Amino acid sequence: MRVAIAGGGLAGLACAKYLVDRGYQPIVLEGRDVLGGLVAAWKDEDGDWYETGLHAFFGAYPNMLQLMKELGIENHLQWKQHTLIFNQPEKPGVLSRFDVPDIPPPFHIISAILRNNDMLTWEQKARFAVGLLPAVIRGQQYVEDMDRYTLLEWLQRQGIDERVNSDIFIAASKALTFINPDEVSATITLTALNRFLRERYGSKIAFLDGSPTERLCQPMVDYIVAGGGEVHLNKPLKEIQLAEDGQVNGFLIRGLNGAGDEFISADVYVSAVSVDVMKVLLPNPWKCVPFFQQLNGLEGVPVINLHLWFDRKLTDVDHLLFSRSPLLSVYADMSNTCKAYADSDRSMLEFVLAPAKDWINQPDTEIIAATMEELKRLFPQHFGTDQPAQLRKYKVVKTPRSVYTASPGRQSYRPAQVTPIKNFFLSGSYTQQKYLGSMEGAVLSGKLTAKAIAERSHSLGSNLSKSSSEKALV
Ligand SMILES: Cc1cc2nc3c(=O)[nH]c(=O)nc-3n(C[C@H](O)[C@H](O)[C@H](O)COP(=O)(O)OP(=O)(O)OC[C@H]3O[C@@H](n4cnc5c(N)ncnc54)[C@H](O)[C@@H]3O)c2cc1C
Repeated sequence: MRVAIAGGGLAGLACAKYLVDRGYQPIVLEGRDVLGGLVAAWKDEDGDWYETGLHAFFGAYPNMLQLMKELGIENHLQWKQHTLIFNQPEKPGVLSRFDVPDIPPPFHIISAILRNNDMLTWEQKARFAVGLLPAVIRGQQYVEDMDRYTLLEWLQRQGIDERVNSDIFIAASKALTFINPDEVSATITLTALNRFLRERYGSKIAFLDGSPTERLCQPMVDYIVAGGGEVHLNKPLKEIQLAEDGQVNGFLIRGLNGAGDEFISADVYVSAVSVDVMKVLLPNPWKCVPFFQQLNGLEGVPVINLHLWFDRKLTDVDHLLFSRSPLLSVYADMSNTCKAYADSDRSMLEFVLAPAKDWINQPDTEIIAATMEELKRLFPQHFGTDQPAQLRKYKVVKTPRSVYTASPGRQSYRPAQVTPIKNFFLSGSYTQQKYLGSMEGAVLSGKLTAKAIAERSHSLGSNLSKSSSEKALV
């Protein structure tokens, strides 16, 4: 059975991988000339990689880790020390660590918080712990009910000190969702916190040992093709064409560089494009269907990824860092953290700039100038001195609409993978799955879509689509 999948991000590729495992023939149609979507990466003229996003993998990513195991590429992950590292704005250049000991949960995280004396007083820690209790005791249902509050509102309701917000939650919220605690749903941060508290290695961080395109997407493509599937670049979906009965008749693919449009016919169709693109591609008759109207409640959030190459080594820290800067979110010196980007003499800093709504339309030069100002605080020993480190080159990658904006109330707009259209399914990290918009969420959504297709085709038998002989006539 042929399954046409529009979108070659992690969700589309994971869906294809799990369809191959179930004996289906997936055909992935990626619109751009690169796979990976939000994890896509490119090589510049010097052979240096730059990426759509700085990506951290967590121990609490069971579906991603399982996928990598099934592909035989677990060794592409470089696990770092079990610690979370924060810059201290009031002490430029000084880092504060939450070292997580290798003891059973939740004592590992509690111990990490209690042993850190740089960021919170004992009273603040105690009030934080008491405020967190309902989330720990009452579990996921409580966490999901909190989707009606912003994180800031929730912290205030729990009587948690403002200092906990400014010390920890602004950084966590920006890192997880690219927005601040006064905008993000409390559910998002509480879900992550809950997993970290419950899983011994949940908050342990890994980096890929090279670009996601080469080290994660390509092995998925090899697996799909070896299993009889296909993966095509430069195949942008232009239109979802409907049959008279309202089912999907085929995907119309836009012809590029003067070529004509192409009609692709399959038994089943999957949209694994982002929610913003899906809203534009919705066929008119579907626009009044409540299921598809849910999509109007979701919208991608802007984010910017920065790469700065310097003439010297700025740090030997081999880890993700929370900058705690109003401009920047997390960062890493990729010359330390990533094997394929390694340089023992010169640093390449990769930063996520978030929230990015006020910067997304600014020229790259202004973004870099503002970032260089921040570096004086993050690395005072290398900037603002007689011989400051020199910026050799930079790359700015802007994504005006990335993962869905995780503001309060969004959970109820996230659509299921199964749609009211018999031969049409959705995939993507924005769809309903228990993780936020993340790589783990994308992989899980792809897996759920493959499962849903198998279940629906079993229950409907040959009625799922036109028969193969009918299709050959299209
Ligand atoms: C800066 C940044 C940092 C991030 N950091 C992390 C992190 O540290 N950890 C983490 O877990 N997650 C992180 N994420 C989130 C993660 O990258 C995404 O949640 C995940 O990759 C989304 O995958 P997806 O397949 O659902 O969507 P997408 O990646 O958006 O894939 C959609 C695909 O559809 C394609 N497409 C669009 N239109 C068409 C069309 N008309 N026809 C055909 N194809 C089309 C796109 O080109 C794309 O390939 C980060 C994201 C960004 C931007």
